[in-house]
This record gives sequence, structure tokens and C-alpha cells, in this order.
Amino acid sequence: MATANRMIQKGSTGPDVKVLQGLLNQKVPLPKLPQSKKLVEDGIFGAKTDAATRTFQQMKGLKVDGIVGPKTWGALGTGSGVTPPPPPPPPPAGKPTFEQSKPKDGFDSTVNPPWQMVPMSGQKTVILKNATNLTVVSRNPGVATVEDVPKCFVHGGRELIIKGKTKGATFIDVKNGPTTVASLEVAVKTKKTIRASFHLVEDNAGHKTTRTTGSIDAWVKTMNDILLPQANVAVTKQRAISVKINKDLGAVVRFSSHLPGVAASEHEWDLVTAKGDASADFNVFFVWEYEQDINPNHDDTDAGTLGKNCIFEDHAGTNVGDTLTHELGHTLGCGDLYGAADKPLLMYGITDQRGQLVLKTHANIMNP
Ligand SMILES: [Zn+2]
Repeated sequence: MATANRMIQKGSTGPDVKVLQGLLNQKVPLPKLPQSKKLVEDGIFGAKTDAATRTFQQMKGLKVDGIVGPKTWGALGTGSGVTPPPPPPPPPAGKPTFEQSKPKDGFDSTVNPPWQMVPMSGQKTVILKNATNLTVVSRNPGVATVEDVPKCFVHGGRELIIKGKTKGATFIDVKNGPTTVASLEVAVKTKKTIRASFHLVEDNAGHKTTRTTGSIDAWVKTMNDILLPQANVAVTKQRAISVKINKDLGAVVRFSSHLPGVAASEHEWDLVTAKGDASADFNVFFVWEYEQDINPNHDDTDAGTLGKNCIFEDHAGTNVGDTLTHELGHTLGCGDLYGAADKPLLMYGITDQRGQLVLKTHANIMNP
């Protein structure tokens, strides 16, 4: 993670302190936080943040010194991924501005210029404000065209239809005479189809997932609701079956069986994922409980994804469809985001603060 590498301690201030406070609020049980209250996420590393940091270090068996360096950041789970750029400041009143016509429709306002995904042979609508008498043109009509919705002055602006012609990127420019006064980046994407197979896992000692095949269609629908409009990625269910592992996997299915010195016969990740569908792009294995760090007694992981395999536990929050889509994002190459909980982002690494918004960077990784 890009922002989380600075060493910080009591007295530090800044956005990474805010990230730290958010993570401590997630990772340290409430009763162990100072006065049993969530930390104020204000970016100021004071006495309470120091106390919570020390508690966390103690929980993780780290040196208890209140200094957040690489080891503590790593234990907080900020080992990979990217941090989105802060949103650009709002434009001054009267400046032509592009806005989304509806949420979660492939519009990213956190980048400058803003960005819109448009499906090839399909179209998207965007709003253009403060541009009543200005000209709107596509820099490359071979990639995407733009036209006004006739008669339309909606939401205090113009409504534009952008049609995708060929795969590629271009810009929609707003011109005042010869001068470009605003732009929208457009990515025209072909549809990428992901074949997903789902497996309800049980072992030979009676451990089994409580999930049932009857829920899976609704989760696949959620995946499509999120990814089709934002990245032109479609998910199809290839199969949903029960699989039995001929071994007692215990109370927790462990990724940490890959630690040095653990015999191959104990590699629980491999035993489970061997039951996957070789022809699928994304194999999901629902298990009762899953852990991937060194301490299997501390439930800090809901699911793990490596390549096209995802092991997904029963205690993975209520928005299962969102989290499955997040895990598919990992299979497609996206890292986790932290420190952006003010935006409801799909790739946010913490389950109960996750949303469905796909940023430009992630749409371009999922479906280049
Ligand atoms: Zn993740």
C-alpha cells in the first residue's frame, strides 16, 4: 500500500494516521480500545491512538513500542494494493462539469478529467452542467460518439449520450470556440465474461458450510449488477455443487498450512482448491471458517483469493454478493484499498465498510 509505509508514532499527524485509526478501529475489539470507544479518525496520533496501537501490537505479538513501522503496518493488513487519489476540489461555480447520470454506472469522479466506461456497441448517459451554449465533441468518433438527448435540460444541465463504437479510449471535449474548457475521458470496453463455479465444502469429520446452493443465483446477480455497468464484466454460473474433502480439516481451514515445515498432506488450501472446476475462471469454495495468517485463532480474514481460487467462510458479513465480487476483483488483478472508507468502494479491504463503486483504475485492471 502506497501511503502506509511512513513510520509514525505519538505526535505524528496526517492522512496515514487517519488510515491507522480506521484500521485500529477495525482490528482492535471495542472493549480493548481506550475507554471502550472507537478512536476519532482525525489524523492526529495522540494518547488514545498510542494506547490502541500498543494494544494491537500486544495482540499480534509485536514489539510493544507504539511505533507504527513496516511490521505493524503489515500486521494491520496494509501489505498490498493502492490508495486512490484524493478527489479533485470541486470546480468553481459556472465551470462546465461532467457528472454521473446515476450511481454505479461506470463514472469515476475521483480522477481528473473524470472518466466514464462505455460498453462497445452500447451507450451511457452523463450529465454536463454549466455548458448551455458550448459545443461538445468526441476527439475520436471512431471510438465513441457523443450527442445531446433532444430537448433535455435535466438536473440543471445537459444530458449527453455517449455511444461505444470500437474498443479503446478517447475524450469528450467541451469547447468554447477553439478552447477546450472541460473533458471527460471515455473507455470503450468489450464484454468480458467470467465463468464462475461454486462449491459447498464439507470434510469427513462433519465440518461443513452452512451456505446452500439456493442463494447462489442472487449473489451472481449482485456480481453482475456491480460489474456489468462499471467494467463491462459479466459473470455466469457454471456450476454449484457440494464437494467433500476426505480429511478432517478441523475448525478452521488454513491457508497458513503453506508455512515452512508443514507437510504437503496438510496443505488445506490445496486440498480444498483441488476440487475446483478446471474450466472455470473463478472457483469459489464456501467453508465454515477460514484463516490465512499465522494466528488461526484470531478471525481477521473472511475470504482468501489466490489466482482463480477463492475460499470464502460463513462469517463473511451480510453482503455476501459484494464480498464475492470483491474477491473476483482480486482474481482479475486488483489489490485491496485502505483508507478510503468515506467512499463506498468495491475494493475496500475491510468487509463491513465495503461498497460497490468501481474506480477507473480497477475497471481498467478487471477488463483492460
Ligand atoms: Zn480483499
